[in-house]
This record gives sequence, C-alpha cells and structure tokens, in this order.
Amino acid sequence: MRSIILDRFVQKVAQIIQTEGAACFSLGVADNRLHPQAVISRRDGITRDSLGHVDVDSGGAFSAAVSTALSQRGPVVIDEATRIDDFKVNPPVLVMPIIWEREPLESEEEPVQRAVGVLALWEKRGGRYDEDDYKLAETLSGQAAALLVEEQLDEFDDIQAAFSTVPVGLMLVAPDNSVLVANAAAMLVTGVDPLQGRRIENIDYGNQLTDLLKQARDSNDGNSALAYVSRDNESYSASAQLTQEKQAIVAFTQSPFSTAAEELTGQVAHELRTPLTVIQGNLQTIEVMIEGGIHPEDQDIIQEFISTALIQSSRMFRLIAETLNISRIHAGKELELEVEHFNLIDALNQILEELGDYLLSHELDIQAPDEIMIDGDRAKIISIFDNYLKNAAKYSDTGTTITIRLYETDDDMVAIEVTDQGIGIPLDSIEKIGKEAGFRTDLSKKQAGGIGLGMVYTRRVTEAHGGRMEIESTVGEGSTFRSLIPKHQSDE
Ligand code: ADP
Repeated sequence: MRSIILDRFVQKVAQIIQTEGAACFSLGVADNRLHPQAVISRRDGITRDSLGHVDVDSGGAFSAAVSTALSQRGPVVIDEATRIDDFKVNPPVLVMPIIWEREPLESEEEPVQRAVGVLALWEKRGGRYDEDDYKLAETLSGQAAALLVEEQLDEFDDIQAAFSTVPVGLMLVAPDNSVLVANAAAMLVTGVDPLQGRRIENIDYGNQLTDLLKQARDSNDGNSALAYVSRDNESYSASAQLTQEKQAIVAFTQSPFSTAAEELTGQVAHELRTPLTVIQGNLQTIEVMIEGGIHPEDQDIIQEFISTALIQSSRMFRLIAETLNISRIHAGKELELEVEHFNLIDALNQILEELGDYLLSHELDIQAPDEIMIDGDRAKIISIFDNYLKNAAKYSDTGTTITIRLYETDDDMVAIEVTDQGIGIPLDSIEKIGKEAGFRTDLSKKQAGGIGLGMVYTRRVTEAHGGRMEIESTVGEGSTFRSLIPKHQSDE
C-alpha cells in the first residue's frame, strides 16, 4: 500500500517543521506493530526499506513514546538520542499519533476515531518544538490518516456494502476452505443446509466457489468476484474478500443491476476520495500555517498547496461529470458534446498535472507537437487521456515506460495514443474491451481492482466525436490504445 503521495507528504512535513528526518508509520491492526510507509532523512541514511517494523510493546524509548502518544492521543517528545529500529536518530524526537476520524454516518452513531499510525520527526533545527509545530504536526498527521486508511477503508467499504445489500447470502470461510459461519440466505443460494463446518469443495456447484476463493487468494488486493449460477439456475453475483486472518468473506447478491450500481458508486467514491484528500489536506495546512503567522519562506509552499488544490478540484468536477455520463449511457441515452476549439496539447498538460502523483512511478515519453487545434468536447477528451493513462499505469509494472503520442493523420484526424509495457491483452479479449460493460481480462483481474467501465466510456466519447478506437497488444509486452478523432465536428 506504499504510496508516492505519502513520500511527498513526509518530505513536506520535514520541510515545514524543519527537521532533519521524518517517518510515517502505519499501525498494523493485527500485529500492533509500526510499519514504515515513508521515510525522509537527509543525513542518517535511513530509508523505508532499511527500516524494519517497530514493535509498540517492545520497550525502548521510542516504543514507549509511541505507546504513550497512542494512548494519550497527543504528541510526545524525546529529548535524547534514541533508536528507531536499528537506527540512531538525534533529538529532539517528536512522536505524533495519526488518528483517523470520521463523522458519524447516522445521527445516532458515535463519531469514529481510530489510531492508524504514527508520525515521527527528529533533529529539529533550532532544537525545540513549539506549540505551532505541534499544531502543524497534528494537522499534517490528519492528512496522513486519510492516506493510511484509504486502503483499509476499501476493505471496510466492501464488507459493509456486502452486508447492507438485501437479500444477501454471507459466509465466512477459513483458510482450509471450511465454512465457519453462514447465514440463511447463503444456504438458500448454495442449496446446502447446514453450511457450517462443510468444506467448500464438497458443497460447490460446478467449482464456482473454489474458483472464486482461489482468485481472491491469488489476487494482489484479496478481492474477487464472479457471476454465480445456483443449482436451481438463478443468477447471483458472488464476491470474496480476504480478511487479515486470511479468512474469506463470501457474499452473494441477487440483482446484477443493483450490483453494477453499487460497484459504480464504490468506484466513484474511491476515485473522488484521492483528490478530495489532497484538497482538504492542503487547505487545512494552509490554515494552520496562516494562523502561525506567514514567514516569507512559507510563501512558495502555500502557493504550491493552493495550485495543487485547484488542479484537484477541477479533476473532481470532471470525474463527477464522467460518472453522470456513464449513468446516462446505462440508461440508453446518447452522449451530448459541448464542442469548443482548443489545443489538444493543453488538454494533455492539464491531465498530466491532475494525475500528478499517479504517474510518478513510471517513465513518461511524450511525443507531441506544440499545438494541435481541434474541435471537440474538451472535458470528455481529457477523460480519454485520463482513462488510457490510468490503465497504462495500473496494468504495468512501476519503472516501465508509458508513451504518449499525439499526431495528425493524413485524413484530417488526430490520434491520441498511449502505449504501455504492461501485462497486455489476449487477442480474443481485445474485441470486447470498451464494448461489453464490466468486461475485464483474466490477466488484469490478477493485477488490480477495476470494474470495466472506463473503456466503455472512452469508446463512446471517441465515437460520439465521429472517431474510432483501436487497440493493439501483445501479452506480456504491452498495449497501445488509440483514439482517432476528426479534427473538425460537422455542424448539425
Ligand atoms: P477497469 O476499471 O477494469 O480498468 P476499463 O474499462 O478501464 O476498466 O478496462 C477494461 C479492461 O480492459 C480492464 O479490466 C483490463 O482487463 C483491460 N485493459 C484496459 N487497459 C489495459 C491495459 N493498458 N493493459 C492491459 N489490459 C487493459
């Protein structure tokens, strides 16, 4: 769950509070240990990879400070040199708990508060932390909280979504594939009563659940889903989600339509959370910095925080529009274009800024002239870039190259082309991408979560402009996605 945003974040924390080193740890729910997520250290040579896990109960000044900070939910300062894992760091060391807070979803609920990690800062220039530093560290740790729980929340959301759908069959399956618990609906769906204590292999109809569990266990994120047909020929959606203890929660949902809607909502919520986290975090930091009195050297940081927040808010607008348009497509409506005359290269630069951190772990090779003027729906064309680039990054290893080519063709078309060095697409699947909503290749299911709507939208947007989408791919080598779009739209 390592995130580049966290790296950047830790860098900024050290810069703002002026320390030689900073580290952000997540707190493992099951093992109660600190797992380093991002580390910056100018002099001690500590990196995330060299730093081991820190046991909260292990004794030692740092562990003790962490323990106190977590239980008091406040900062603790160690005034002498101390060890973090095997590394010696210079004082003063500030340990700030990272507390995640969520407003209650229902009015009668309590607000949720959970310690999710720790921010450690060491060797402050000037030698003392003051009230302003505590306040900044606390606000910043709130930002980190959002980033740290993002992954956990996904897990949580999925489980919750499964529980809130009725009618639903639920069962919990042990690592040895025996059913630990099951509700009545699960017995109805599987046609087996009782389920508890039975092994999946012995009750499975056509190996469907065996496949489902295997997929979840083989996947990176511990999730899998498939269409399940019961003995009495009813269709369900079955999904499996692994817990920390490697048990699997299996959920059956009855209506495929409501499942699609739910997946879409989940996906949208997930997509919107990232820009919103950045916007909120940046604004909070600026607020705290202003409260402490603006120093001339803060000016640049504040400026940067504001421009990132603005870029991310325009991204949110576009993602919301995209979602509304996908629902319109679902409802059988045509896409409406708002055509304007614009420079495609500017549009590319905009999406590159918006995607910022998302593409940092890949090499980008951009081959484009300075200007290609076209008539088209700017926001929707940006979505084409967005979807191609997100997929290129999602379905290829970090460090590989993503090539973006923009060029004009002889027949007055413009090509938007993205090539990756990723997993590729089997020949017989190429045909289905962007045509069948929800279609995902088997290769990609092992790689990353997705719901198979982005390409449907991209194809529709391309075709609504009178263009066409082309895909070329070799399994294991990579893929090229291309939208060919006429430069001019005929007036109708
Ligand atoms: P998803 O949310 O699943 O990524 P998309 O509609 O964007 O949905 O893509 C549909 C499917 O096409 C993906 O699930 C994946 O199987 C395949 N795909 C899309 N882009 C790529 C790519 N660059 N490399 C390999 N497979 C891809």
